[in-house]
Amino acid sequence: MSNIEQLPTTKLQHQDANAHLHPFADYRLKQQQISQIIVKGDGVYVWDSEGHCMIDAMAGLWCTNVGYGRKSIADAVHKQMLQLSFYNTFFHTTHLPAIELATKLVEISPAQFNHVFFVGSGSEGNDTIVRLVRHYWNQKEQPGRQIIISRQNAYHGSTMAGASLGGWPSMHKQGGLPIPGIVHIGQPSYLEGGQGKSVEEFGLEAASWLENKIRELGPENVAAFIGEPVQGAGGVIVPPSTYWPEIQRICDKYGILLVADEVICGFGRLGTWFGCEALGFRPDLITFAKGVTSGYVPLGGVLVADRIVDTLAETGGEFNHGFTYSGHPIGCVAALENIRILEQENILNQVKNETGPYFQQKLTALNAHPLVGNSGGIGFLGGFNLYKHKGSTVHDHIPFSTSDNAGNLARANILASGVIVRLMPGDRLLMSPPLTLTRKEIDDTFNKITQGLDKTY
Ligand code: PLP
Repeated sequence: MSNIEQLPTTKLQHQDANAHLHPFADYRLKQQQISQIIVKGDGVYVWDSEGHCMIDAMAGLWCTNVGYGRKSIADAVHKQMLQLSFYNTFFHTTHLPAIELATKLVEISPAQFNHVFFVGSGSEGNDTIVRLVRHYWNQKEQPGRQIIISRQNAYHGSTMAGASLGGWPSMHKQGGLPIPGIVHIGQPSYLEGGQGKSVEEFGLEAASWLENKIRELGPENVAAFIGEPVQGAGGVIVPPSTYWPEIQRICDKYGILLVADEVICGFGRLGTWFGCEALGFRPDLITFAKGVTSGYVPLGGVLVADRIVDTLAETGGEFNHGFTYSGHPIGCVAALENIRILEQENILNQVKNETGPYFQQKLTALNAHPLVGNSGGIGFLGGFNLYKHKGSTVHDHIPFSTSDNAGNLARANILASGVIVRLMPGDRLLMSPPLTLTRKEIDDTFNKITQGLDKTY
């Protein structure tokens, strides 16, 4: 890391602990929980203030899809900042980057989408979903349809509506959530609910929970169902192949809008522009953020299917919703350049047919490690669990107890070996690397993970 100046790390860490309230942190412990200071990124690598180089197998926070240090994105942003740093998209004004990006998103999204509503983040996108679907049913003169069904352990953001759609009790406890009209069903986790069943059978069973809930609530009261194609922050839970087609059938049967939260799965992570294309369903709304700009600049949006737009266009009345930064020109040009890179470098095809399958092959092979079970994923998303003793199937493995601290130890050892992974409760480690990770870098990533695991128990 010769080109990174030596920084007074300890001093900066204390300065950070004194002045900076981090997201998802325990403030009682803030003086003890010193943060690693990341100072540089290039390709799939990041460097900290002490000169350690790490493969960022989390792509920042599931977002740096084209990798770090892309000069062409920086140049596009720089040029746009000088041309027009900001203009709003309210009150019948627009600008060239928003026009161009909306047109591009319509081109690359599934056929039912010909319109996009811009927001600043995934959370804002999901807030928009809540207001938009309820507005839609009001306009359709079915005002009873207000309930949105989501899933336990889902993550849909941190705003009041986002956290309500999410299925994390720890978030619901803070702020009196969920807001009215949001209910949750179980998640399609084979590890949790699949014992004694085939994966396909379990997929149908998990989808039937939606039908049961709709019947319990009365279809005339249900507006929409929302799900991440693959649950991300909840643990990279890839649903059985039978799950989404059955969810689609149920939503169609009861006339319920189907919403895909593609904040993680969108923009190539599963080898397709959107995860719904990889998993075989046809949503009415898509929330996206993160990978649309590879995290270079904040931007998100909601793709809205024609049947919704047509109804709103016919019935009229203002949709009283929007953000100052809806369609921020700097975000739009970053997204356009990011999408151009994804296309020009043929990255989706690689994730689908070459490096993605190779990444999954290595991840599955990690199951042979004495500590590892339940490893797997799809595309460039994956996870694995740590176990104290392994049985003949995933349902027979015996987890570590909390006092073993196995997850923390493994994560720290893997980090010391040079790879950033994310730890979830239950000793599950998650991976979501930049989509540009090469075969050689994949080998290196898994060698380093194995080195780290070998030092753990
Ligand atoms: N939806 C999903 C599936 C996410 O993973 C996230 C963030 O991780 C969000 C929504 C919230 O996005 P943001 O943090 O940009 O508000």
